Amino acid sequence: MRSYEELLEKALSELPEEVVKRERFEIPKVSLLREGSRTIIKNFSQIAKTVNRSEEHLYKYLVKALGTAGFLEAGRLTLQGKFTEEEVQKEVDSYVKDYVLCKECNSPDTILVREERILFMKCMACGAKHPVRPF
Ligand SMILES: [Zn+2]
Repeated sequence: MRSYEELLEKALSELPEEVVKRERFEIPKVSLLREGSRTIIKNFSQIAKTVNRSEEHLYKYLVKALGTAGFLEAGRLTLQGKFTEEEVQKEVDSYVKDYVLCKECNSPDTILVREERILFMKCMACGAKHPVRPF
């Protein structure tokens, strides 16, 4: 008879890769570049893609949360002001927690839908729907 671990390993190896990847979802780490009094998020586009949100939505959230102005160009977000990696990462983490991860099952497989002027986060994994905080 095979051990539980062996069975689990076999089951995992038979899962489609996409499912396995989703299980291992990790909040992307920001990669910054300082240019004078500006801070550039080099991997901004990649972060938006990983968390499956529009660049526009994430960009608006970040400039508001960091209390600054910025602009998007060629997949990078340039922020006015000097920010540390910790400061920017903290806001990306909050964004993912509030606008990406399902509050019921913690799955990142969610979408934002607007109904009657209210923005909801809908989970494709468990079907839960929650209103999200506007910003
Ligand atoms: Zn869910």
